[in-house]
Amino acid sequence: MSTQTLSQDRTTKAASSKQHLARAWWTRTLPLAVFGLMLLTAACQSNAGEEGALPPSVPPQAQDQVQQPPSASPSAKENEDGADEEAAPEPQPELEPPAKAYRMNQNYVFVPLQEEEDNKVVLLTFDDGPKHPDTLEPLLDTLDKFEAKAIFFVNGTRVEQNPELLQLIHERGQIIGNHSWDHINLKNEPADVIDQQVEKVQAIVEEVTGTVPQFFRPPHGAGNDYLRQKVREEGMLYMTWSNGSLDWDASARDNPDAVVSNVLEQLHPGSNILMHELPWTAEALEPLLTQLVELGYGFIDPDTIEIELE
Ligand SMILES: [Zn+2]
Repeated sequence: MSTQTLSQDRTTKAASSKQHLARAWWTRTLPLAVFGLMLLTAACQSNAGEEGALPPSVPPQAQDQVQQPPSASPSAKENEDGADEEAAPEPQPELEPPAKAYRMNQNYVFVPLQEEEDNKVVLLTFDDGPKHPDTLEPLLDTLDKFEAKAIFFVNGTRVEQNPELLQLIHERGQIIGNHSWDHINLKNEPADVIDQQVEKVQAIVEEVTGTVPQFFRPPHGAGNDYLRQKVREEGMLYMTWSNGSLDWDASARDNPDAVVSNVLEQLHPGSNILMHELPWTAEALEPLLTQLVELGYGFIDPDTIEIELE
């Protein structure tokens, strides 16, 4: 190795050593700077009251006082002047969707995909809401108590009046279905009316909750081929029911016992149980679910229903 090369080599080493020192300084300083910034950011955000900042043990009432929807995206949280309030809510971070376990047959009854799967199950559904917290909240509480999921088939007009109740259904982990905008009999309506009645509900539910319904139930159980095709095109499973609670009938008015006995009289494995958001149904739900459990029945998680679409 020549002297010149050696000298060049030394120069390179010295330079490299300086770079190393510089890097070492940044390595020490950067984390401190980042930490300082984080503290500043945290201090700025502490008034924003996002639910994410609350410990998991905070009771629901305390969370209610926090006005920020839990589904707010991180970017919306950073924006403190509320400029993002209009932005469509993003879906909540969800766990892996459960595996499909049931399919619906032509009689709107649910059967297990695997033969060995338990067929002593029912699907719980509540139509015509969301109407009133005094009815909806007890329904949700009872479902939680039994760790049961249900489909709430909503009407667009109700959602327009009570978007916060629709959001509540979604936040409580229940499933939202499309029950048409106006609850009109769709059987003899022209295609453009049917399109609107279906599409507008998809749109408003997505706007409020960030999710799109996967289930459709026609008002009065009345439909036609065009409606069925439209529902399929929208990616939804069309269903009426196989077990009517008759809770809408005058005979069941203010009579929770009648609702319970009507369901139990028609009970069969895979029952698709039609109920409504009504005060006496809210009252009937706990004794009904208690008896179903005693009879060995479980509750189908709507997310485990296979949506068969060609
Ligand atoms: Zn209805």
